[in-house]
Amino acid sequence: MSSLTGDSYPPTLDDALERDRLVQTIKDWTIANGLAVRPPPAIAGNDSEGILAMSAPVTLFPSPFPKSCFAEAEAIQTKYNELYARISQDEEFLSGLVQEVAGGDEFIANLWDIHLRVKKEGYVQNLSLGLFRSDYMVHQDGDNLQIKQVEFNTIASSFGGLSAQISLLHKHLAKTEYPLLKDTIPQSSIDLPTNQSAEGLAAGLAAAFHAYGKSTLGHPTCVVFLVQDGERNVFDQRHLEYALQSSDPDTTVPVFRLPFSQILTHTTLAPSSRGRQLLYHPPHNPTLTFEVAVAYFRAGYGPGDYPTPTAWEARYQIERSAAIACPSVLTQLAGMKKVQQVLATPESVASTPSALRRFVSDDDMSHAALWKTFTNIYPLDNATPAGREARRLAADAEECKKYVMKPQREGGGNNFYKTAIPQQLKEIPEAHWGSYILMELITPPPVVNTILRNGALEHGGVICELGVYGTCLWDQATGEVLRNEESGYLLRTKGDQSEEGGVAAGYGCMDSCRLV
Ligand code: ADP
Ligand code: MG
Ligand code: MG
Repeated sequence: MSSLTGDSYPPTLDDALERDRLVQTIKDWTIANGLAVRPPPAIAGNDSEGILAMSAPVTLFPSPFPKSCFAEAEAIQTKYNELYARISQDEEFLSGLVQEVAGGDEFIANLWDIHLRVKKEGYVQNLSLGLFRSDYMVHQDGDNLQIKQVEFNTIASSFGGLSAQISLLHKHLAKTEYPLLKDTIPQSSIDLPTNQSAEGLAAGLAAAFHAYGKSTLGHPTCVVFLVQDGERNVFDQRHLEYALQSSDPDTTVPVFRLPFSQILTHTTLAPSSRGRQLLYHPPHNPTLTFEVAVAYFRAGYGPGDYPTPTAWEARYQIERSAAIACPSVLTQLAGMKKVQQVLATPESVASTPSALRRFVSDDDMSHAALWKTFTNIYPLDNATPAGREARRLAADAEECKKYVMKPQREGGGNNFYKTAIPQQLKEIPEAHWGSYILMELITPPPVVNTILRNGALEHGGVICELGVYGTCLWDQATGEVLRNEESGYLLRTKGDQSEEGGVAAGYGCMDSCRLV
């Protein structure tokens, strides 16, 4: 397999003085510009005042990334936005898939129950906002390089704030530092795409905020970020908030951060007869009441946020309210790995044609474009030929090495890789295997880079994962799409010995693309 890394790029920085200068520049730039996270207790002690921040892990150089693949991923994003907006509107389709996984997955079953409860009394908000991120790795087939989708995120798609910052950091280094290296890199030789991820996502939030309209109850309207307690990736979220304020200097969009665990403490619902508006009561000033126009979830994507039945009641309160949810329960469920699997299961092995046709007709140009980005993904049920074949592959000590097995989870750290798959299958009842999907591993061309993490350098082979953000606002009842935009990108890079790639989960780091 050929390498994307040229002989002299990125430089290895064998000279300690050169290396130290670059590292110092990065340490200062990252803090000065909020390319930062809150430190874990292992580094900060208990930081009881909550004043410490540290640099996010970053690469010293932007990783080389094929220009054609980058262009393809950007170009297809609006098609993906539309596809997932349509899936969210297809309750019958989602219902069938939920039935397939819910037996072995209480979390998905509980989400579905929330949807059913709200459906019964009637939704009072038809607008739905998606701040999506479609993730890819480059697959090499001979000389042909092709992006293959790792997954599609419909909830809490993170790093849009920090990603814009690392693109700026690498641009700064390309201008001021790389030309001074002994292995000089002229600025003109580095093609760094602009990255509007923070502005793009903020513009999505702003579109929903304005579409909500004025309060009929006479309250000011606001956006609420629903967040996790003790969130370390807080600056990523703050960048979106700041971008939202600076996007339009003439309007103020009040933004509040509300821990998911305190939804029921600080919000109430207006009665159904008046419209079931979600009212936010800021704890710092009891005389104020805001009407929530947009409820933006940066929490609630996994079972850890629902330790008690009360937490599920909190989710129900948001779902049945008039606030535009980002995402709604149905949109969150559209992001199930099971959905991705049924879209991608090749027609030759599935008992029914790929579900992609249900949403995008064969003669639509975007059908072929989307299909090209899929890699093989199989169900693990016992009812279909594809499922039975996948069960054989997953349980085989040799075959399993080509696959990753995924449950219906988000946030990193939940998958089983290669030889861990047969082991995991032994530990779960066979009746529940269908709650997982089996996906072929994508093996991108080798790239070399140096990662700066917790002040230490790690040099070696790395694997890059490109994410493209999309913002979409649509009407669940009419299908009308009010906004559909590609909204910037994320490049996450991990050591090639690591299977998981999440930055927040501690495996990966922030990177940007040098187009080659
Ligand atoms: P999550 O929703 O938890 O982020 P992902 O599907 O993105 O789950 O998987 C987590 C990580 O596992 C990815 O970031 C990637 O590094 C790795 N991974 C997942 N699927 C594949 C695949 N098909 N080929 C190679 N690596 C993969
Ligand atoms: Mg995900
Ligand atoms: Mg992921």
